[in-house]
Parts: sequence; C-alpha cells; structure tokens
Amino acid sequence: MSGMNIGSLRKTCIRALADGGNDNPQFEAEQLLMKFCGVTRNDMLLFPALEVPEDKARAALDAVSRRLSGEPLQYILGEWEFYGLPFYVGKGVLIPRQDTETIAELAVSLAKGRRGAGFLAADLCAGSGCIGITLSKLAGVPVKLLELSEQALGYLRRNIELNGVQRLCEALRADVLSQETADRLPALDLIVTNPPYLTAQDMRELQTEVAHEPETALFGGEDGLDYYRRMIPLWGAKLKPGGMLAAEIGMGQENDVMRIFKDCGMTAQYKKDLCGVIRVIYGIRNE
Ligand code: GLN
Repeated sequence: MSGMNIGSLRKTCIRALADGGNDNPQFEAEQLLMKFCGVTRNDMLLFPALEVPEDKARAALDAVSRRLSGEPLQYILGEWEFYGLPFYVGKGVLIPRQDTETIAELAVSLAKGRRGAGFLAADLCAGSGCIGITLSKLAGVPVKLLELSEQALGYLRRNIELNGVQRLCEALRADVLSQETADRLPALDLIVTNPPYLTAQDMRELQTEVAHEPETALFGGEDGLDYYRRMIPLWGAKLKPGGMLAAEIGMGQENDVMRIFKDCGMTAQYKKDLCGVIRVIYGIRNE
C-alpha cells in the first residue's frame, strides 16, 4: 500500500462508503481523512498528489471499516459540534443532536434575561453536557450538571474543561429521579433536561447507529414518558417563583407532557425545532 496519495485515498474511501450504502460518503470520507490523516479539505482538493504515510492511510481505512459496520461517525471522530461548541463523544454517551439546539437556545435566552446574583441552573440527565455547557458558556451562568452514568460523566467532565467553563459548571453524579438528589440542590432559576424518551416500540426499531448509543440515555419506559412523570413534579417544586423547567420531548409527546406540567400546577408552553416539530415543553412556576 506504500505510495498512496491523498487524492486516491480520498476516492477509495468515498467509493467504499458509497458501496456500503452510506448516504453521505463524500462528507464522511473527508471528515475521517481530516481526523486520521491530519490533512485539511483544502489539502485534499488542491494537492491530491500529497503522499500519505502508510500508518495514517491504514488508520483512515480502518475508520471507514468501522463506519461501514454501523458505528456512528461521531464516535469514530471522537468529537462533535453542538451549537458551535466542541464536545467529546464516544461509546457510553449520547451524541449531541441538532434537535437539541432548540432547548439550548431557549435556555440561553431565558438565562440572559434573568441572570444576576444568585442565579442558578441545572441540567438533568446531562450526558455529554451539551445543553448545560452551552448554556453556561453563552449566558455566563453557573450550572450544575447531573448525570448517573459513570461513563457519561467521564465525557461530561472533559467537556467542561474543553469549553473552559470549570468556574461555572459542576458535574455531579446523581439519580435525577430521587428526592434525595433534589434535596441536595438549592432552589433553581432554570432547569433543563433531555431525558430518555424513546418508547419500547422505538427501541425495537432503532437505526443501526443509534443502537450503538447507551440504552439508558434513550429508553423512557413502555410509552416513553416515565422520566417526565417523575421529574416534573420533583423538579418543578425546586424552581424559584418565576423559574423555568424545560424538557426536550420526542415527536408527538407534546400533549402528554403538557398535561403533566399542568397537573403540577404549571402553565406549559412549547417550542418547535427548525423542522417544525414541537421539540421542547416548558413551564414557568407561578410567582
Ligand atoms: N433524540 C434521540 C433519538 O431520536 C433520543 C434522545 C432521548 O431519548 N432523549 O434517538
């Protein structure tokens, strides 16, 4: 394999991904080549004759095989962007999704309007930390990030450092469904959460890539609503008057989740994502 240049390696990788049924072979091949061969897109396109050392070419081809076996691109790259910020990802943590930028945006705007002495926010089921870290970084507010999985916490802690928000963010290992956890925290101005919300039926029909992600971050019980039923009463009560609890939901869960908020005495509103799907339900605690 010696003497491979970046132009032909690029073509080989694109072809292999396309032949394996990948929907976005050019983009994915280029992402893998940038990561594993240390070249820019510019190098690949302008200097196709550039020689690639054999070990690097081998690493890129191995990455292509991993991708063809169904491993998510994001895990192979080890890093993914959310709301313009970088996040480490890999086995054991949910990959930040674009849908989730909707709740992050809502949280940032609420926090910017309310921040001040004593303001405190929490991100429940924080995973990689993408919502809470974005909130903290863009609104400049302190955030407690709660996560139960030790593996996910490893990514979360590294992401706090990667984004330089160590002074504002604190990662805590905690079960967000327990009263004891709620008792450990002071009253909050803002609570955000993207809990597991897939149904038993969804879990049987997972896309190959999603099946590589942790079940504990995805499965929300038979009807997908277990976390909302338990978290909304528990954490709604932790809000300061005028404080907001916002939850990401799955497609079609809005009526059920709004009902849970109302049963807890909170007025519920919704926000759509960029595809027009109702993606976030949020409630404000009465003053
Ligand atoms: N949005 C994820 C998916 O569609 C689910 C994440 C979650 O359950 N919070 O796979």
